[in-house]
Amino acid sequence: MRRNFVAGNWKMHGNRAMVRELLDGILAEVDQIEAPPAMAVIPPAILIPQVAERVAGSAIEVGAQNVCDQEGEGAFTGEISGAMLQEAGCRYALVGHSERRALYGESDALVGQRALAALGAGLTPIVCVGETLEERDADQTEGVVQRQLQAVLAATGADRARDLVIAYEPVWAIGTGRTATPEQAQAVHAFLRTQLGSAAPDVTILYGGSVKADNADALFGMDDIDGGLIGGASLKADQFLAICRAAAA
Ligand code: PEP
Repeated sequence: MRRNFVAGNWKMHGNRAMVRELLDGILAEVDQIEAPPAMAVIPPAILIPQVAERVAGSAIEVGAQNVCDQEGEGAFTGEISGAMLQEAGCRYALVGHSERRALYGESDALVGQRALAALGAGLTPIVCVGETLEERDADQTEGVVQRQLQAVLAATGADRARDLVIAYEPVWAIGTGRTATPEQAQAVHAFLRTQLGSAAPDVTILYGGSVKADNADALFGMDDIDGGLIGGASLKADQFLAICRAAAA
């Protein structure tokens, strides 16, 4: 279902004390947001149980930063299955974050399998796609995001497109302080929507890449941008709340 949505990807940041402080700050004010968007935080896996317990009963949901591509249990050392994440309180799982693709060699096909396994466990995959600066400069943006998205749809079946959240995250804008302009982001979001067939009007498409309180309004004001996947700014309660307010209906 298409809806306004803000998700905070904490990456490899945090500890138990930080979870207490950050969530205290968010939970103190989140109820005052009028017509709030859907909201989730995505902590490192080991902090998921603590986060899930703290946000239970609030409007904040929980996601995982990755999910094993295998369903069920087995000899997959170091992996965490979708069922385990679900039991720990997750509703979402990121798949294909550019850091996973670039630093850990995750292929389009593997990202597709991870999305399929997430769906199998009842999680909503947040499928990250985005081009590097070299690819943008070579006019390959649409080709890259199309390839990345189609690999996921090939794995899940196009009929599951409605069950995905897509996050367009230009690699050159992640953690760099350099944001795509609202027009640049809107153009790619509109293109991504054309790739979703009859599901297009129903799919939530987030923008990610140096979203902050002061640029969120302009980005979220674009027709095909339904909210944001937020990295650095999601580690500060006041920034995260301000971004959630900008995504309110
Ligand atoms: C991200 O990690 O998904 C992200 C968008 O990071 P940042 O907001 O810090 O650019």
